[in-house]
Amino acid sequence: MNASARQSIVIGNWKMHGDPESARLLVQEVTYGLALGDAPEVVLCPPFVFLQHTQKFLERLPVHLGAQNICEFENGAYTGEVSADMVRQMGCSHVIVGHSERRQYWQETDELVGRKTQVALRAGLIPVVCIGETLTERESEATRQVVERQLDTVLKTIGEARASDILIAYEPVWAIGSGHAATPEQAQQVHGWIRAQMRAVDAQAAEQCRILYGGSVNSENAASFMDLPDIDGCLVGGASLKAEEFVKICLAT
Ligand code: PEP
Repeated sequence: MNASARQSIVIGNWKMHGDPESARLLVQEVTYGLALGDAPEVVLCPPFVFLQHTQKFLERLPVHLGAQNICEFENGAYTGEVSADMVRQMGCSHVIVGHSERRQYWQETDELVGRKTQVALRAGLIPVVCIGETLTERESEATRQVVERQLDTVLKTIGEARASDILIAYEPVWAIGSGHAATPEQAQQVHGWIRAQMRAVDAQAAEQCRILYGGSVNSENAASFMDLPDIDGCLVGGASLKAEEFVKICLAT
């Protein structure tokens, strides 16, 4: 199977932005724009509190809903947390786990990300597992070691049999929100390492697995990533809040 046999996917991470009215407008403009072209698979990830609201506007449209995070526990006395089952019941099919902002500001460890991935799978969600190195790690030539360690912990936690059920997003931390995307060559190199690591676990899962690039993707650079053999889509932060820009990225992917 080559890259063209894997369906392209674009995921928009709205982070902690917006209000009910801006969410409604964004969804309507995005879905209208996508209908005008040849769109890939698209997932929108609003904040928890707008999931149900956003879902109403996505009904009967070929755009999926995703959450930005979940609790590592299935249920219980965990004040302020939101479970995988809860977001599933709100209409989510996907959930982002291990985003670098969660790792950085909430000290999420590789082990915790592994447990969240497992809980997501048990609830019937598709986890979008984010991995990526910091600038210091890249400069000390530790990129491969870091992404392999992050992915290895997830794969060991969920077990080989579930390896084909996750999406992987390679997001170099230094490229997120910085306006300085990785070059297509840098991204392809790491995506190649990730696919090789998957191949060592399960050759078929490695060919099926979609690996997304994330980090300052915009309408100008999106196509340059998508031309590469091991890049199957994009995880988009800032640009997913601008309907026209996000639609252009989707149609270029
Ligand atoms: C992200 O938050 O996952 C992301 C890639 O952000 P940005 O596109 O703004 O760099």
